[in-house]
Amino acid sequence: MHYAKPLAILVGELEKLPGIGPKSAQRLAFHILRATEEEARLLSDAIIDVKTSIQMCKICFNFTDQEICDICSDPKRDRSVICVVAEPRDLVAMEKTNEYRGMYHVLQGVISPMEGINPDMLKIRELQERVNQDYVKEVILATNPTIEGDTTAMYISGLLKPFNIKVSRIAHGMPVGGDMDYADQATLIQALKWRREM
Ligand SMILES: [Zn+2]
Repeated sequence: MHYAKPLAILVGELEKLPGIGPKSAQRLAFHILRATEEEARLLSDAIIDVKTSIQMCKICFNFTDQEICDICSDPKRDRSVICVVAEPRDLVAMEKTNEYRGMYHVLQGVISPMEGINPDMLKIRELQERVNQDYVKEVILATNPTIEGDTTAMYISGLLKPFNIKVSRIAHGMPVGGDMDYADQATLIQALKWRREM
């Protein structure tokens, strides 16, 4: 490619983004080049802003721009139920159903020996500490129905056995190997409704 150096750097950076191949990177770079300086600055500021202002909620480990996220600080949410998800985007998918009114716990990943991710690298110990509070009555394991998601759910249900609370797994109305993030809202509502005890 024969780009001027700054343009080549931008294309190179955009290509590192997930789902962006060389063609898309080139298209985005030219789009940015044609944009006004104001528009370009809004984009670059937004990128820097998420890096400097977004942190993990001290309670549920969702991304937030405060110490405690909006869900954890909402007095109307049901504190007796914790829905465990792998990633913040899964929490967003669940929230979009408008069906669930409990709390969340974001593991920030799933157990994956292939990728060298072991339980200690996830927010599992923090989940145990939360479950230790007596007002917690149920934990819903809502990791994806993949091998890693199932392994993680099994592992956590084993750890939670001594707590004598209800531990359930969302039903697999979702396509096997599927992604909660892509499941439509009706499917996700069914999966939550037909959860089974582990
Ligand atoms: Zn939170």
